[in-house]
Amino acid sequence: MIKPSKTKNDRAAKNKSTADENKSRGVKNPVVFRRNSGFCSVAVPEGDPEAWMSLALKEARAAAGEGEIPVGAVVVRDGLIIARGHNHPIKTNDPTAHAEVIVLRKAARKLGNYRLNGCELYVTVEPCAMCLGAALQARISRLVYGALDPKAGAVKSIVRFPVHKTNHRMEIRGGVMADECADVLREFFRKRRPRR
Ligand SMILES: [Zn+2]
Repeated sequence: MIKPSKTKNDRAAKNKSTADENKSRGVKNPVVFRRNSGFCSVAVPEGDPEAWMSLALKEARAAAGEGEIPVGAVVVRDGLIIARGHNHPIKTNDPTAHAEVIVLRKAARKLGNYRLNGCELYVTVEPCAMCLGAALQARISRLVYGALDPKAGAVKSIVRFPVHKTNHRMEIRGGVMADECADVLREFFRKRRPRR
């Protein structure tokens, strides 16, 4: 089905909701709109990883609403969101449909380049080996994650992947909004547990 092209009113409504989102997050000077850039125009103060992680958390909650393990991610470049998405391997019968892989694919399509130099990847949970590998393959400049994943995390939990031995320099920061990110997971599994 071909989507109808967006009207002036649709665009105005989208810009208004983006402005509301910025306002609710306490963004003081949120006007970074690049209307025809094709990128999402959510603005965040530079150097504010919590703000990006909040958006990844929103995606994680969306995954929970679909019955998927709640992990969300965003790819950011030059203060703009290039892609956002969440885990959905169950819905798509795709074992590789982790949040990170979803957003890396989306971002690469959008930028028309399989290398995402200068892009930052924000994800609510420490990446697994597959996703860390994908981030390196994509040449992500900076990886920021929230909670640790003691069962699958490949940055420092089940294994410490030697990122420094690869030929790509990727800055890694963990623990951003870790409690909030872990809470979403805890709540999801608590609800799924059968009552006695
Ligand atoms: Zn993964």
